[in-house]
Amino acid sequence: MTIELSGIGATPRVGVGTVVWHRGTTDLSEPPDPKTVDVDEQLAAFEAACERAHEELTDERERAEERVGDDEAAIFDAHRAFLDDPEITGSVETAIGNGLPAPHAVQQAFEDPIARLEGLEGSTAERADDLRDVRDRLLRILTDRERTDLGDLPDGSILLAERLAPSDTARLDPDAVAGFATLFGGRTSHAAIFARSLGIPAVVGVGDELAQVGDGREVLVDGEDGVVIVDPDDAARDRLVGAATAVTRDRVSTADGRPVEVAANVGTLAELDGVVEQGADGIGLFRTEFLFLDRDSPPDEDEQYDAYVEAASAFPGDRVVARTLDVGGDKPIPYIDAPEETNPFLGERGIRRSLGPDADLFETQLRALLRATAEVDDLAVMFPLVARVEELDAALLRVEAVAEELADEGIDRAIPELGVMIETPGSAFVAEELATRAEFLSIGTNDLTQYVMAASRENARVADLHDPLHPPVLRAIRRTVEAGHEGDAWVGMCGEMAGDPELTELLVGLGLDELSLSAVTVPDVKARVAECDAESARDLAERALSAETRDEVTSILEG
Ligand code: PEP
Ligand code: MG
Repeated sequence: MTIELSGIGATPRVGVGTVVWHRGTTDLSEPPDPKTVDVDEQLAAFEAACERAHEELTDERERAEERVGDDEAAIFDAHRAFLDDPEITGSVETAIGNGLPAPHAVQQAFEDPIARLEGLEGSTAERADDLRDVRDRLLRILTDRERTDLGDLPDGSILLAERLAPSDTARLDPDAVAGFATLFGGRTSHAAIFARSLGIPAVVGVGDELAQVGDGREVLVDGEDGVVIVDPDDAARDRLVGAATAVTRDRVSTADGRPVEVAANVGTLAELDGVVEQGADGIGLFRTEFLFLDRDSPPDEDEQYDAYVEAASAFPGDRVVARTLDVGGDKPIPYIDAPEETNPFLGERGIRRSLGPDADLFETQLRALLRATAEVDDLAVMFPLVARVEELDAALLRVEAVAEELADEGIDRAIPELGVMIETPGSAFVAEELATRAEFLSIGTNDLTQYVMAASRENARVADLHDPLHPPVLRAIRRTVEAGHEGDAWVGMCGEMAGDPELTELLVGLGLDELSLSAVTVPDVKARVAECDAESARDLAERALSAETRDEVTSILEG
């Protein structure tokens, strides 16, 4: 009988295959009497295990670098740093000194740091997966257990696991693995990020019921709808057919001739090939903070310059929009000394940090971007989390100052097309003024919805409120588009809303000039743009805007 389990779709693709379970290595037998433990022998075993773990991580980093790129592979450096963390190694040595064998001491020493990370909010909590990964590696080495060779799974495997660590996911061969599903994890966990860059269908956070699905069962993973279907029948298999819309590299217009640009969002350079393959008309959002995450120090000016040139060169003649560093909130950077905030989403995020404590990083990034603009065509730059005109004015002044500085140094530079993200109610209310200063506005509906509806984008308990179809959000989008056009700015959307093909007609009707979305949905959205008629889309948008509730909006869209 077909059973359907729901979770969170991580890669909007569908795959079917045979279950292979990846089980953890943390079950240890009871520790022996402390008096019988040879402390020196156990300390030596721990030291040898750390050395071996370092060697493995070095090898795995090299392999991952070839397959998913340098930025993603940098996670292994973070794992090596955990191995050298004196708080952890000190606790292991103390526990061994108290008479615990090395494996038990490792398990105990990691407990508190893992629990501390789990207690935090957002993506910091997901770093607990990295710590677990390091712990499990040490336990496997110390207990001499065989590791499941995730790089050598049979063709058509559906991998199930409690949680997959970044190093596990990076080893997966996308040609052999038809999909994976995990009990735990969120959309922004590293496993999910890797899965998306490798294009592997994935559903995370399915919960305990997944544990009941045994090895060898046939399972379909639908990362689009976030469901895992055990023993799929013919109706369930139709999902496989629906997944493949033909790719077109041509730009698209509505049936009555209104052009709409369909670009892609990327976080890492390793994703570029996939984005080109899916036929994107450029990049509408390059989340440059990914160049800064999971490493020990920031990328320098030359490394960033190379990254921006590489991104723009993948799309000759098409626009590539780099967003300046957007850290804080759910994206802390370990080497930046930022104070703890009780409400980080309302704290020092995005442009606030770039104009404040991270001014040096901002200057380096702008130098790299202006140099890259001189080298390649069509690079654009936008600023995140702007809430008021003064912030845009200050950011534009920084750009001019950096341009002068480079000119004084005799370095080639050019000022890119400059834009602002509309992610706060403040920016939506002053969109007219922003649009007269900037060349484009790009609506970030993930944050805009969170702030308009006062509903965290990460809290499942208010997920119903975090929906851009609520009239207040739709009206904020409408006023932004109108204000942008009045100020002669083009207006795009790069939040997740842009990637839902069911909403393409509405967005065309709201007047958006560009939609930027994850690469895998580019073909579907292009097809929807080509199908719709701009005149009737406008009519649909007018009706949706006059609705008083989300339910009314939904029934208008369904009708
Ligand atoms: C957004 O907020 O909609 C957006 C695109 O930015 P991010 O998801 O990176 O915060
Ligand atoms: Mg945002």
